[in-house]
Amino acid sequence: MLFAALLLTRCNEPGTNRMQRKPKLVVGIVVDQMRYDYLKKYYNKYGEGGFKRLLKEGFSCNDAEYNYVPTYTAPGHTSIYTGTTPCVHGLIANEWYDRGLHKMIYCTEDTTVKSVGCSSTAGMMSPHRELTTTIGDELKLSDNGESKVIGISQKDRASILPAGHSANAAYWLDDNTGDWISSTYYMKDLPDWVKKFNSQGIAKKYLSQPWKTLLPIEQYTESMKDDNPYEQVFVGEKSPVFPHDLPALMAQNKGFELIKETPFGNDITTDFAIEAIKNEQLGKGSATDMLTISYSSTDYVGHRFGTDAIETEDTYLRLDKDLSNLLSFLDSYLGKNNVLIFLTADHGAAINAQELEDKNIPAGTIDGAEITSAIKVFLLKKYGSDLLAEFTNQQCYLDRNKITEKGLNMDTVEEELAGFLKHYKGVERAIPAYRLDNTGNDFIAKKIRSGYMAERSGDVIINLLPEYMVYQKTGTTHGAPYIYDSHVPMIFYGFSVPKGSNVMEEPITNLAPTICNLLGISYPDGCLGHPVNLTK
Ligand code: ZN
Ligand code: ZN
Repeated sequence: MLFAALLLTRCNEPGTNRMQRKPKLVVGIVVDQMRYDYLKKYYNKYGEGGFKRLLKEGFSCNDAEYNYVPTYTAPGHTSIYTGTTPCVHGLIANEWYDRGLHKMIYCTEDTTVKSVGCSSTAGMMSPHRELTTTIGDELKLSDNGESKVIGISQKDRASILPAGHSANAAYWLDDNTGDWISSTYYMKDLPDWVKKFNSQGIAKKYLSQPWKTLLPIEQYTESMKDDNPYEQVFVGEKSPVFPHDLPALMAQNKGFELIKETPFGNDITTDFAIEAIKNEQLGKGSATDMLTISYSSTDYVGHRFGTDAIETEDTYLRLDKDLSNLLSFLDSYLGKNNVLIFLTADHGAAINAQELEDKNIPAGTIDGAEITSAIKVFLLKKYGSDLLAEFTNQQCYLDRNKITEKGLNMDTVEEELAGFLKHYKGVERAIPAYRLDNTGNDFIAKKIRSGYMAERSGDVIINLLPEYMVYQKTGTTHGAPYIYDSHVPMIFYGFSVPKGSNVMEEPITNLAPTICNLLGISYPDGCLGHPVNLTK
């Protein structure tokens, strides 16, 4: 009865559709590099208001997985919000080789727009290489643009790609100043509230203190001892141990960029997201608004320190507090039932290869320069010419002009190079792109096909054995089809989402249609997923 009365009250609110109640605000949260097991690993240390609250009161898909490779940031964020994979949305990596321009390009760089809020090129960004609509685009298409859609992240790509083509704004952090900036793609000038936020020097305040552990350090029993050989030290530090003296480290560690490699990067993201909600009055109009937040520090810290570092654990415990603050702010500002929230990650991470090898578990690193040089030498010996235009993202881009000039057959060169690469240490398979459609239906072949777009991807693609990576010896990375990189949290919370969980295989492409279904709007135009059944 009480529920019916509440529903009736809400349906009678001015501007609310009488037939279908909609949330006032959608908040999408992506935690960059968050493995699914981090929900469990640190569970007993999380407070009641953050991850635990989402798990206890929301609906958790406990077997959500990336259904393509490579598991990188730009493809991950785009797939979350478009419900499709790189073969359709086009974000095949963070950067790739452009055959027309004969050089590497960055996914969101755009020379046709200008920076807003800084004098460098850091704001010359847009979603112009994203080939499909996002949830936010569909939301705005559904109500003639009345909804406000805003993206926020320390990383430009993690702000721009989720927000989509018709977003009102996307903001990201400028490495030179620690200010939130944008692009003329969205606006001519920063809104006053953003200028005011920037003028407070909050990034500087966060970096004016040492990074100490949140809890007494002996309580970090889920992690390795603080001083170990698997972590990458900050420049100027002798060993990778607490406390990290941030004010002293700033000068040698790229100035304000240092905040990204500390949990304080997530803190300032939360501060800014709450200001955005208040100042843009998100959820206070008649249409459903959307805010996309991506927490990037978890990725930077993970790359530097690995999956088993006290630094990584501390970053998650502090992020848990950020989430708790954000959720309690939303409670008071709009009420839980008026906000639809989801939390997921753009990929996971491997365990440091040396750490595994020292425990007799097969693993290894491949030096990027070494494998590139081996490819060049092979092609030179075989064809008398360096036919490699670029080796990146575990893909070889061949110089097609040279191949034509020499009268060689492209398929044959691909085949020969794949034949060489499949014997390289750590390589699981090497596939010539021309044969991609006929390379079997095992899970790896399917993931490679879903991540491949002919115009943007390479000509020979390699996949590595589990826990092998093209990376340095310390820290870690991601990009593989295996579970440690592909298994992520997927939690829905608030609005009409019931408490519950499932252990069904949910590809990441099911997230966007689930949200669109709850909003009663069309799925993104390249969507290949289906809504999660939230009743089980
Ligand atoms: Zn990422
Ligand atoms: Zn990363």
